[in-house]
Amino acid sequence: MYSDRINSLPPYLFATIDQSKAAMKAKGVDVIDLGVGDPDQPTPTHIVDSMCEAVRNPETHKYPSYAGMPAFRKAAADWCKESRGLNIDPASETLTFIGSKEGIAHIPLAFINPGDVALCPDPAYPVYKIGTEFAGGEPYIMPLLQENDFLPDLDAIPKEKLEKAKIMFLNYPNNPTAATADKKFFEEVVQFARDNDIIVIHDNAYSEMTYDNYKAPSFLSVDGAMDIGIEIYSLSKTYNMTGWRLAFAVGNKEIISGIGKVKSNVDSGAFDAIQMAGITALSSSQQCVADMNNIYQKRRDALLKGLHELGLDVKPPKATFYVWAPVPDGYDSVGFAKLLLETAGIVATPGVGFGTYGEGYIRFALTRPVERINEAVERMSKLNI
Ligand SMILES: *Cc1c(COP(=O)(O)O)cnc(C)c1O
Repeated sequence: MYSDRINSLPPYLFATIDQSKAAMKAKGVDVIDLGVGDPDQPTPTHIVDSMCEAVRNPETHKYPSYAGMPAFRKAAADWCKESRGLNIDPASETLTFIGSKEGIAHIPLAFINPGDVALCPDPAYPVYKIGTEFAGGEPYIMPLLQENDFLPDLDAIPKEKLEKAKIMFLNYPNNPTAATADKKFFEEVVQFARDNDIIVIHDNAYSEMTYDNYKAPSFLSVDGAMDIGIEIYSLSKTYNMTGWRLAFAVGNKEIISGIGKVKSNVDSGAFDAIQMAGITALSSSQQCVADMNNIYQKRRDALLKGLHELGLDVKPPKATFYVWAPVPDGYDSVGFAKLLLETAGIVATPGVGFGTYGEGYIRFALTRPVERINEAVERMSKLNI
């Protein structure tokens, strides 16, 4: 009944985890869920209020424009200027997405012919690879290894793959490894993309979620990046808006225009009332972001303290709300996740769920209050590993 593209999808590991989690809960276990990368705090009130007001205006009830409201795209460009000094033309160099997942899944359709290659990191957000395969392309896996600070080794990509490569996906600050990239790495990427005629898609979903005064550099702030790439910003993690589905791309206008052509044929844009709330989020005080980062930072420190006591060697991440920890000797990632769930009632995500090179790691999401993280640490200390 199903197409080859559906039949060849990998088994969905997270469904299995959900099942075991439900089984533990049914047994009455007080489960601490550090599995999902979904903020636990509500969307800030000023953003919610703005949506309530906008939705009462019947003008917002009509079809939105496919590229996004001009006022939202202007707010996005202004935010990029204010937060990272980028000069972006709202009309030609921005595009609204119904969440970045939607954009990422559609991007390969604009650039990939059957047999073309997309360079995809591993471990990674699964949509880069699946979106490529849905478009008939061939993902080429760029391993993210600890010894390379979880950056891809561009020199290791074989020449015959490079000749067929049309696009490259990158994501820093990174999910799941929490690694960051400096400007020097982005400069190498720009040179590499120019030399090999590759379009760079930088997924910057965690752009604002940073700690210890670290500020994540923008890919587009590197000289020449606007010629070869785009950057995707999401309101999901930044403003606790995962359910609202709102993101935007900025960058090279030909690339933006190509993606727009796909989108105008498959969707009709983001709900205008949501975009109006998005304008409020982007153009109001950014204090809510700093407040959230303070909360995540305390949780990070609580978890790290516990992991160190357990003898797990983890450096404090400078960004994202993830802690990417090597699993103890004698376990693989699924085995350790199972142990955590079944003997300590803790949900964490096995690294292999993000790709082959995630094996040997486990991802904790800092999406529970510090008291619950302390409780998780307490339970882990009794595990005897
Ligand atoms: C959460 C996440 C996204 C999804 O963002 P939406 O805008 O909610 O679709 C995209 N990329 C990465 C790496 C993420 O972790």
